[in-house]
This record gives sequence, C-alpha cells and structure tokens, in this order.
Amino acid sequence: MIIDIHGHYTTAPKPLEDWRNRQIAGLKDPSAAPKASELRISDDEVRESIEKNQLAKMKERGSDLTVFSPRASFMAHHIGNFETSSTWAAICNELCHRVSRLFPENFIGAAMLPQSPGVDPRTCIPELEKCVKEYGFVAINLNPDPSGGHWTSPPLSDRHWYPIYEKMVELEIPAMIHVSTSCNACFHTTGAHYLNADTTAFMQCLTSDLFRDFPTLKFVIPHGGGAVPYHWGRFRGLAQELKKPLLKEHLLNNVFFDTCVYHQPGIDLLAKVIPVDNILFASEMIGAVRGIDPETGHYYDDTKRYIEASALSAEDRHKVYEGNARRVYPRLDRALKARGL
Ligand SMILES: [Zn+2]
Repeated sequence: MIIDIHGHYTTAPKPLEDWRNRQIAGLKDPSAAPKASELRISDDEVRESIEKNQLAKMKERGSDLTVFSPRASFMAHHIGNFETSSTWAAICNELCHRVSRLFPENFIGAAMLPQSPGVDPRTCIPELEKCVKEYGFVAINLNPDPSGGHWTSPPLSDRHWYPIYEKMVELEIPAMIHVSTSCNACFHTTGAHYLNADTTAFMQCLTSDLFRDFPTLKFVIPHGGGAVPYHWGRFRGLAQELKKPLLKEHLLNNVFFDTCVYHQPGIDLLAKVIPVDNILFASEMIGAVRGIDPETGHYYDDTKRYIEASALSAEDRHKVYEGNARRVYPRLDRALKARGL
C-alpha cells in the first residue's frame, strides 16, 4: 500500500474561494460578510473536483491513500481575528471530511487549526477535537507562524504551544508543521517561507528539550525537511556544541520528514542522510509545483518515481510508503486495520 501523507484540497470548487473573498471583504464592511450557511457546494461538485484531479493522478502514479487537509496557502491565519479563522477552518475541515466520506478508500483527513496571531493556541482545541472525534481525522497541520512571515509567535518549544501538544499526545495524532501564505514581501510563499519554516521548526526543536517534556509527541516536517537534510552536518555540530544528545536520540524519535523534494538528487540525499525510519512518502500533489520537468519529461511532484529510482531496498521502500506512516499516524493505522488492511 502506498500512503501519501501530504495532500491538500487545492482543487476545491470555486464557491469556496468566493465565500472566502466575501469573508475578507466583510472585515472592512460587516454588511458584506457572508454566513457560513451561505456556502453551498454539492456532493457532485466535490466528487468532480477530486476525481478529475487528485484521484486521477493517484491512480495514474500508483498511490492508494492520501492524508488530506485544507489548502495550506489558503489557511492565511493572519487574516482577521480568531472568529475569522474559526469559521474558515470549520468550513475547510468539513469539506475535507466530505472528501473522505465520498472516497473513504483514498482520502483520510488532517485538520487545519483556527489559529490567529497573538491568540492562545488553546482556542484551537475544540475544532481539533471535533475533527478527530467526529470526522475521524488522523493528524493536524500546525502553523508555527500564524502571522504569515513575521514570526510573532514564540518558538515551538515554548509553553505557549503546550496545550496543543497535550491534546495531540492524548489523541495520538502527529502534527505536520506547516505555514501558510507569506504576507511578508521578502518571502515567497512556497519557495522561501515554507522551506524557511521547515528549517526553523527543526532548529527550534534542536535547541530545546521539548521532547523530554513530550516523549511521544510527533512532528512531520514537510518539503523534505527544508534545508535540514542538506545541512545535517551543521545541525549535528550545533547540537554537539550545545551539549545536546546525538540527534538520533535527541530528535529522531519525534521528528519525521516527508519526500516532497522534486528531483532525484534531492531524494537520494534525503535517503542517504536521514534514517529510513524517519522518511514518509508524500507528494503534496496537486500543489506548489505543477509543471513537467523538461529534463525527465515527468511531473516534478511525481515523487514516487524518485523513491523507485533511489538506492532504498524493497524493505526500506515499504517503510517509506506505508510502515512509517502507520507508526507515526496511529489513528490512520487503526482506521486501516478496521478495514482489514
Ligand atoms: Zn503542504
């Protein structure tokens, strides 16, 4: 079985975006603000948006199940206040839930949280619990920078975040550490802000003793871990100078990397540097990089091809495709077992 742990509903029907634009307009002119109930998207529209896009590509490329969350760049936690994010997150999560109900064999949900800059993350817990307990979601996306590129929140190791971690541990769900749109002109959203955040999150974990407080907490760092695998020597050396344990003991029981690296040498390096138990298959399809690589003639985000062509043994490939995901996402494992898989 091939599990893609990183997919977003980037192809949601147009009324969703229209509703969001009205919600944003309503921040200036409350008379323009829509009610949540004004958004109407039929099951047929949801079905079509998936069948023609993500599901078609999954079948074509040969993956079976995608952990599916709302479009990351649309989370835009910096817009409005907690109420704004709360209504928006509920709508987006409910849509992903509908996808998972319409295509139960191919999609399972991960939640976006109603984060808002300067607001206690504890306020996200009711939405988180609803998604896990009522919708059967198996993970969350946690934005370490709800300000959208200005980094006004404390680091992930700060007690500020602990209420979320306590709930994650209790519910046995991992978090993908995933920022959203950059509203800082210095950082391109998917080319800089995403990769900066991946690297930053890893370093925040490295300099802290977060996982001493939460030995079973699990973070998935997407986009191949940003700059982390490429600079593994630097991180090992910094940990040594900080008198931290070896990275393997210090972080690798808790931190995992996905395979959203869009060329062969990148995947080869990831597989060589990072222990195979910490690598999870993902493509983030259909996402930031949608083109075809003229050097290979294949889509950049067809990441399965790189895994297949890597030096990983058959046993290791099984870990990357399925085994590791079932270990890091215990609720996913249980959902599969309940289906006899
Ligand atoms: Zn993503």
